[in-house]
Amino acid sequence: MHLEDLRLAVYRSFACTGRPPKVDDLAEQLTLDVAAVRAGLIELAGARHLVLDQADQIVMAHPFSAVPLGFAVMGRQTLWWGGCAWDSFALPHLLPDEGEVLVSTRCPACSRPHAWNVGNKRPPDGEQVAHFLVPVTHMWDDVVHTCRHQRLFCTVDCVDSWCRESGSRRGYVMDLRTLWRFASHWYDGRLDRGYVRREPEAAKEYLRSVGLSGPFWGL
Ligand SMILES: [Zn+2]
Ligand SMILES: [Zn+2]
Repeated sequence: MHLEDLRLAVYRSFACTGRPPKVDDLAEQLTLDVAAVRAGLIELAGARHLVLDQADQIVMAHPFSAVPLGFAVMGRQTLWWGGCAWDSFALPHLLPDEGEVLVSTRCPACSRPHAWNVGNKRPPDGEQVAHFLVPVTHMWDDVVHTCRHQRLFCTVDCVDSWCRESGSRRGYVMDLRTLWRFASHWYDGRLDRGYVRREPEAAKEYLRSVGLSGPFWGL
């Protein structure tokens, strides 16, 4: 089996249907036995191409998510769980045929609903802020927890009130324009054959280029 075929099958299922594929369907599609598919998924998870739960079910293939993490993203025919704020804003860049998608969420502090039309041409309007709780060096310690805490808030006051209530230290706050730039090319190539992850130095360069700085980002 070519692992890249399996990776692409997972990503394409998420992209086209909003859901991860079933192991049986992958086996049939790739003419493999189920055990080979399961072993391949574990290998892909080891390389951080996807995230499995304790039962080895697919939970995420960034920026796609099989579970709700605070966001819904509505395309023309497809509804996705948006992953985190970063992942939700990335979807229209990865899926340019969608045009603008509707990204919706609630402020974690006050439950106020927020929604934006997000496309790949310009950042959406809005004074809301994104808050990232987990610094970059720990993002993969528990990446589902990390994504669950990359959220959009009404204001910095709402971020601070959520931090007080949850006993968390404030992480990194950015405006919508920065979030949109950050999301715009991070996931480039994930739906294409031969995708290769950025080397650490290239990742840092990308973070700098979109206006992020400081120890939170390892910069
Ligand atoms: Zn709020
Ligand atoms: Zn995420």
